[in-house]
Amino acid sequence: MKLEILKEGDERLRVICKKVDKITPRIKKLVSDMIETMYAKNGVGLAAPQVGSDLRIIVFDPRTTRRKHPMVLINPELSELSGEIRGDEGCLSCPGLWGEVTRSAHVKATGLNEKGEEVVIESEGGVLSVVLQHETDHLDGILFLDRLDPAQQLRVMKEREEL
Ligand SMILES: [Zn+2]
Repeated sequence: MKLEILKEGDERLRVICKKVDKITPRIKKLVSDMIETMYAKNGVGLAAPQVGSDLRIIVFDPRTTRRKHPMVLINPELSELSGEIRGDEGCLSCPGLWGEVTRSAHVKATGLNEKGEEVVIESEGGVLSVVLQHETDHLDGILFLDRLDPAQQLRVMKEREEL
């Protein structure tokens, strides 16, 4: 089932999400709905608060191959952040807005998949590193817009007036 994506300005995008303590059928359904919604909107990632849930769940597919390869992280934790990459980001909750964000290049992400198995994902840069940090930020109520430098924030504000 495709879910509605909340837009920037909705307070539910600003909550600190709660850990999932048990993977119930309801959680599994949410995960599969999130994956369906992400592909329907052509996104590379989606976090639970974007569909109105306050649970620590992200889904993503950095699209490095033509085949769909959806990944799920429940209760994701990022560690071993190092290096720096800078690139344009957008967000399904901020339609039409883009901006350059500085992120860590290397990131290690740990969490559970929808079967409750431990997952470790290491990324040395590129879209996967960015997506992991962007989506995990959502679980703490942070949008990429918050991470723009002042000059970029000003530009985005002007663009928004023209939208
Ligand atoms: Zn986003």
